[in-house]
Amino acid sequence: MAAEVLTIKNLNKSYGTKQVLFDINFTVAKGEVVTLLGPSGSGKSTLIRCLNGLEEFQSGTYSFEGQEVIDNKDVWRQLRQKVGMVFQSYDLFPNLTVMENILLGPTKVQKRPRQEVIVEAQALLKKVGLENYQDVYPRQLSGGQKQRIAIVRALALHPEVMLFDEVTASLDPEMVRGVLEIIKDLSQNEHMTMVIVTHEMNFAAQIADKVLFLENGHILEETAGKDFFTKPQTKRAQEFLDSMDF
Ligand code: ADP
Ligand code: MG
Repeated sequence: MAAEVLTIKNLNKSYGTKQVLFDINFTVAKGEVVTLLGPSGSGKSTLIRCLNGLEEFQSGTYSFEGQEVIDNKDVWRQLRQKVGMVFQSYDLFPNLTVMENILLGPTKVQKRPRQEVIVEAQALLKKVGLENYQDVYPRQLSGGQKQRIAIVRALALHPEVMLFDEVTASLDPEMVRGVLEIIKDLSQNEHMTMVIVTHEMNFAAQIADKVLFLENGHILEETAGKDFFTKPQTKRAQEFLDSMDF
């Protein structure tokens, strides 16, 4: 049994008076890929955002590598260095080149030597097929290219875990595959620990070690990836898969 990286226990989360996550429990082991699936509004984004402190939760505990994450700004700042996140909207800085976008975190926040990070960034850019784009600005890139840069930027911080929230949802269909291939490579070749929200069911079926199926803020089932897509435990999950034409 691989070591646990993330452990969430009895997490409850409300926006104002509206509770949106109810008694959430799960773990993510080192190298594991956990996929959050469920209908729109079920709480997937809220849950994934709790994992890097973008959302506060009202009760429950969150442990990272065995240490409980206490509610303290410095603790969360340190945690965010270890938990990389890429969203649906690529939030690159428009006034900075691709390379400057990538360098910002490692040099300013982590205080690593610029030259060392440049060499590493170039290798990462090559890996995602964008080695000739380091001096261009985000507006000169397609959506798929921007999303690949957003992934490189997150990886340059040497995260222990990567969170992906519907990173292909706003891309043209022909751009989707390239981005998914990068995520697949991260899992298969780098054994990156990941939590992924996606609507790409074929991709999820290939990559998920474990599926958490959410509805109305509850985890309705937790099922091994190899089983979920062919024999989910709940009727609701089967209906969901049918609705996704899977
Ligand atoms: P999903 O990602 O599964 O579509 P979300 O986590 O975005 O679901 O949303 C879960 C619930 O929380 C929904 O009812 C949504 O309307 C609500 N919600 C999400 N973000 C906010 C917010 N910032 N303020 C208030 N309610 C929110
Ligand atoms: Mg969402």
